[in-house]
Amino acid sequence: MMACDLAPAHVRTLLAYQPGKPIEELAREFGLAVHDIVKLASNENPLGSSPRALLAIDQALPEMARYPDGNGYVLKSALSRKFAVQPTQIVLGNGSNDVLDLAARTFLHSGASAVYAQHAFAVYPLVTQAAGARGICVPAKEYGHDLEAMLAAMAPDTRLVFIANPNNPTGTLLSNEALLFFLRRVPPQVLVVLDEAYGEYLPENLRSKSMDWLAEFPNLLVTKTFSKAYGLAGLRIGYALAHPDVAELMNRVRQPFNVSSLGLVAATAALDDDDFIARGYAANRLGMAQLTQGLRHLGIEFIPSEANFLACRIGNASMVYQRLLAQGVIVRPIAAYGMPEFLRVSVGLAAENERFLQALKTAIEEQ
Ligand SMILES: *Cc1c(COP(=O)(O)O)cnc(C)c1O
Repeated sequence: MMACDLAPAHVRTLLAYQPGKPIEELAREFGLAVHDIVKLASNENPLGSSPRALLAIDQALPEMARYPDGNGYVLKSALSRKFAVQPTQIVLGNGSNDVLDLAARTFLHSGASAVYAQHAFAVYPLVTQAAGARGICVPAKEYGHDLEAMLAAMAPDTRLVFIANPNNPTGTLLSNEALLFFLRRVPPQVLVVLDEAYGEYLPENLRSKSMDWLAEFPNLLVTKTFSKAYGLAGLRIGYALAHPDVAELMNRVRQPFNVSSLGLVAATAALDDDDFIARGYAANRLGMAQLTQGLRHLGIEFIPSEANFLACRIGNASMVYQRLLAQGVIVRPIAAYGMPEFLRVSVGLAAENERFLQALKTAIEEQ
């Protein structure tokens, strides 16, 4: 008997998360030049990183022999000002994925369950299973969350419900009204994890009101990230805002130095970079219009998206994915999300979007 055979069954049956293909990997596999490759596979910021963050990183480099501030005092102070919450309501994470995992490790166990939607972010089932808990996957409604069905699916042992808004990979959005109505009916022993990774891409009239709800709902945990609109995916930094008791429990479970010094200083500097966020928002709007227009022109259906990516319905998606790769264009197959006939494409710069549309046209015509 080997140690691996004796690992818990929920660990042995875990399926690893499949990230977007890295540019260097495609370059190696297809003998392509790195600068000829367009990656629209991980919803990264095509404008790069907030320049303020890059400057802060530069200035922090001489201090790298020291451990980071394990409590993230400076970043938490900045977040607390921005969102009008107490620093004790904040949990910092090595990306918001870390925070999602912390929520699962803090509140789930082998006798508990978590509810999430079909076609929702793959990390929810993953962290649920890794915590030894039971996942309850609720069928989607028009590719989005069916909140009524999610309420109905909750069991006596349910401790968490995950909601991505907008959702990845579908780009669907729940209204503030629908979410508030849901929150009012969720039993108090169920923590609602509201994942707002793409919140900065929403137009003013659709912006989340979740910050107003924290005081009213002690069972609400809102997660946000610096990976997308702030352009800091490589640094791994995200956070959650919740009731102080919830945050305190999660802060006990986390690793003492789960966020790096560079992540802390970069995030603090980026947080007030309204100009960078505004430019990213505008570029995303333009790019989204370019992509949707191009797809319509090609006769390709897509799910209307409120984020920085689009799920496109493409017959023979896995073959088209390969043909795009051969042309140096990386998108994301989402068969693992129960959407085998779709490819997800991130909104890029105008030239990148154009490369994708051209390559897609070629890939489809070859069929
Ligand atoms: C990209 C993404 C995140 C962010 O992950 P990080 O760990 O912060 O990089 C979180 N939730 C969803 C739904 C995402 O798509």
